[in-house]
Amino acid sequence: MTATHSTRMLILGSGPAGLSAAIYGARAGMAPIVVQGLQPGGQLTITTDVENYPGFKDVIQGPWLMEQMQAQAEHVGAQMMWDTIVDVDLTQRPFRLTGDGGTIYTGDVLVIATGAQAKWLGIPGEQELGGKGVSACATCDGFFYRGKKVAVIGGGNTAVEEALYMTNHSHDVTLIHRRDSLRAEKILQDRLFANPRIKVLWNKRVDRFVGGGDPEGLVGLDLVDTVTGEASRFDAEGGFVAIGHHPATEIFKGHLDLDEDGYIKVETGGTHTSVPGVFACGDVMDKIYRQAVTAAGTGCMAALDAERFLAEADFEEKVAA
Ligand code: NDP
Repeated sequence: MTATHSTRMLILGSGPAGLSAAIYGARAGMAPIVVQGLQPGGQLTITTDVENYPGFKDVIQGPWLMEQMQAQAEHVGAQMMWDTIVDVDLTQRPFRLTGDGGTIYTGDVLVIATGAQAKWLGIPGEQELGGKGVSACATCDGFFYRGKKVAVIGGGNTAVEEALYMTNHSHDVTLIHRRDSLRAEKILQDRLFANPRIKVLWNKRVDRFVGGGDPEGLVGLDLVDTVTGEASRFDAEGGFVAIGHHPATEIFKGHLDLDEDGYIKVETGGTHTSVPGVFACGDVMDKIYRQAVTAAGTGCMAALDAERFLAEADFEEKVAA
């Protein structure tokens, strides 16, 4: 027989956004169920040192931080479940989600915190040198490249912002882009071109991240000119891939309003989505800040918005009865 789990507050995703929503939701008496996906704990579980999450003077580890958040959420009464949601029905409350084994989850409100994944180039050396010179988040890891020569790959807003950010740590930042013009906003481009610490290499494709040294780390990038086909080596100790993100919103297509990049649209300054009673928080609705602390902040907002929504819905039901 198919199992059904029902709750006042159903949360999908268990990164900092989902677990913060769970902590607030549990303490508000909504007995949340958190459905964790394929990467319980989210992106922080694939990082190592975390130095920018407030509250910790010493360096902490991403996976440890997520274990603590989960333990805290469970301690206050949230229930964790592991499943891959394959179908959603948001046409009526309670909302209904179906797992790949047929398990049904229903919630009077739904908080979506499924996050986003950085896009990678998929080239040799990228995985092997992850955390040893290759990263997809300058704001997270840039500090570790203080005084080093670094490359940022990409030509959109993220790449330009990451290159500008890296000049706080390095005098020698090179943006490597596969075409001869950027797609980043003009104001960001103006800042980039005016910055004496940044050079731009145009028409270059990165074909390989090259490791070396002991302990092994990034020593260079193999490039190919996209116009002439000429191969070259670019020496660098840091390589930041900044070619965009994929928000995890596939299952919500056609059920909720998404923007042109696939992120869930929320009302300005809040977490309400296009369906009343469905809230979104963290990287699945934020393509600008993408930090653990901002995800946790919007997770808290989603729980508070959900609590208010339920209080109003309960009141209206009582008045109607
Ligand atoms: P974008 O999709 O805008 O840009 C991706 C960049 O990476 C493009 O320049 C693209 O090249 C390049 N790229 C993609 N795939 C490859 C590849 N395989 N090899 C080499 N280069 C590649 O992503 P962003 O993350 O920059 O931005 C996403 C959205 O978020 C945008 O709407 C952006 O405006 C927004 N954003 C806004 C910010 C802000 O307002 N402060 C900050 C960050 C993002 P090409 O140009 O040749 O296609």
